[in-house]
Amino acid sequence: MSLYKKTVHELHNLLLNKEVKATDIAKSYLQQIDAREEQIFAYNTLTEKEMVLKQAEKVDEKLASGEEISFLAGIPGAIKDNICTKGIRTTCSSKMLDNFIPPYDATVIEKLTAADYISLGKTNLDEFAMGGSTENSAFTRTNNPWNYEYVPGGSSGGSAAAVGSGMAAWALGSDTGGSIRQPSAFCGVVGLKPTYGRVSRYGLIAYASSLDQIGPIARDVTDAAHILQAIAGHDEMDSTSIADKCPNYAEALVADVKGLKIGIPEEYFIDGMDKEVAAKIEEAIANFKKLGAEIVPISLPNTKYAIATYYLIACAEASTNLSRYDGVSYGERVAGEDIVSMMTNTRTAKFGEEVKRRIMIGNYALSAGYYDAYYLKALKVRRLIKEDYDRAFQQVDVILAPVAPTPAYKAGSIINNPLQMYLQDIFTVPLNLAGLPGISLPCGYTTNNLPIGMQLMGKPLGEMEIIRAAYTYEQEYGFPNKIAEVNE
Ligand code: GLN
Repeated sequence: MSLYKKTVHELHNLLLNKEVKATDIAKSYLQQIDAREEQIFAYNTLTEKEMVLKQAEKVDEKLASGEEISFLAGIPGAIKDNICTKGIRTTCSSKMLDNFIPPYDATVIEKLTAADYISLGKTNLDEFAMGGSTENSAFTRTNNPWNYEYVPGGSSGGSAAAVGSGMAAWALGSDTGGSIRQPSAFCGVVGLKPTYGRVSRYGLIAYASSLDQIGPIARDVTDAAHILQAIAGHDEMDSTSIADKCPNYAEALVADVKGLKIGIPEEYFIDGMDKEVAAKIEEAIANFKKLGAEIVPISLPNTKYAIATYYLIACAEASTNLSRYDGVSYGERVAGEDIVSMMTNTRTAKFGEEVKRRIMIGNYALSAGYYDAYYLKALKVRRLIKEDYDRAFQQVDVILAPVAPTPAYKAGSIINNPLQMYLQDIFTVPLNLAGLPGISLPCGYTTNNLPIGMQLMGKPLGEMEIIRAAYTYEQEYGFPNKIAEVNE
């Protein structure tokens, strides 16, 4: 079997047993990129081949001299292009940052560097992570590896498409309102959004600071757990970072959910949901029952306000975060007669349509006359949404839900209808508003051979429970590590 089809843990064991070399693994991924990147467009920037091979050689030398290696050492991954990498272009898929070369590494990158990670490149996203289809990238859209006419989801569409097509063994994404979980579901891979504060945001280019969180996109649950371990932990550079020590996530890789209480929120089974998605989620619930879990109907009554609340808070925070792109502090400057026209010209030329729309919504919601009616109200409803979860988690250990109302849709089909696009986020944004962890994993395919994902949500710092539930499901009913081979 080609090396690019294997999981990180399989490759890691092959390295430890000296059955393959890190350079062989690297070559297999580089070949796969040569074969598929021209159809998929997952990457904004590719690492030079010689550099990838040099890093792999270093790991081979370590192995030859009997040194211990980390889980990720020598196994090529990809990094979403909104995570700062020292000396390597980091664009947020925006013309504003087209030539931005960060002078520092994000904390997650420092941690990965210490673990001898290899990056194949920086992956495409919706501009500044605003979107759910990667069609908002200022550079190019990314295609779904299962069918090139369909979107890969977003905003971490490049990362999910790279992992789902064998162009990276693993990747980092960021999730503000679903951007790890939803593209993972659309591309048939596993995505984990950690508890807010579990992974440092230092060096993640901010979209909405109270919601953003970095997390892994992987081929299976085991890999996701190990990658989370590699990036999680307290960081004094991020004031919202959680001080508690991380558990050993690998200890949650136990196939047993007997007695686990799984909540099914009635508000997540709505009219208008795609029939095949609904059927697969019902099947997943029945399968969990067979595995010995207890299924408990629950209610999260304020879910209906989640979209409005999320888009007010996210846009408000985005409007302030993006004020730094003025052609002086940050951003590609466009000249003007005076400072005001220079700033206006810069922002007019370099921000895309969706980013501008959100800056306007955010500024409106924060303006003196409307602050109380919109932003303050949204903060209050955010609390109610959080309290819904608090109540539910007194009864259950995890909550099971769909990731999105539909599987991947055709590129171009809803991009011109922003409201419809926002409504697609109904099942993912509540979790970010509450700061909770969630994992999405494949639970089937449509008749058109497009992946369908389910979502397991956890209590604050409940990563162990969701990893365990997801792992158990995957062992018995999962589709781990299935690479999209269509259109070849
Ligand atoms: N689709 C959502 C949005 O556009 C979520 C994006 C994200 O998680 N970065 O805001």
